[in-house]
Amino acid sequence: MSDLKLCQGTKCHTYYTQDRVKGTKGNKTNQTRRRSSFYYGNGNFCSLNCQNDWFNDFGERAINHFGRLNEPIRLTEENAWVKNYDYRSYRGEEDRYYIFNNITKERRPLTEEQYNDTNYRITER
Ligand SMILES: [Zn+2]
Repeated sequence: MSDLKLCQGTKCHTYYTQDRVKGTKGNKTNQTRRRSSFYYGNGNFCSLNCQNDWFNDFGERAINHFGRLNEPIRLTEENAWVKNYDYRSYRGEEDRYYIFNNITKERRPLTEEQYNDTNYRITER
C-alpha cells in the first residue's frame, strides 16, 4: 500500500467515478485517486484534467518560484545542431547518419560512431 502514489490534482476527489468511492454504506467518501503509477505530469496526475487543476491553482506561483522568462530563449547557429538518422538510407549507408543545423539548414554526414557518441559536437563552422 505504501508504494501507491496519490494523484496530486487539487480537485481529484471531486470527480465522481466508481474507483474514487471508498467506505461502506452510510460511511462513503469520494477520495483522491491512489495508484502505483500515473500517466500525466511526470507520473503525478491521474488525468490531464487533474494536471490542469493543479496548474490553475499553483502554476503561476511555480513559474514565479522557479524563474519566469523575461527574455526569449534563442536558438543560435552554434546550438542549433541536432543529430538525425535517416532510416530510408536511399542515398546509401554513408548518408544514413547526419547532423543538421535548424538555423542554417546545413546538413553534414556523420559516421555511426559519431552519431552514437553523446559527447560529439560540431567544433568548426
Ligand atoms: Zn486525479
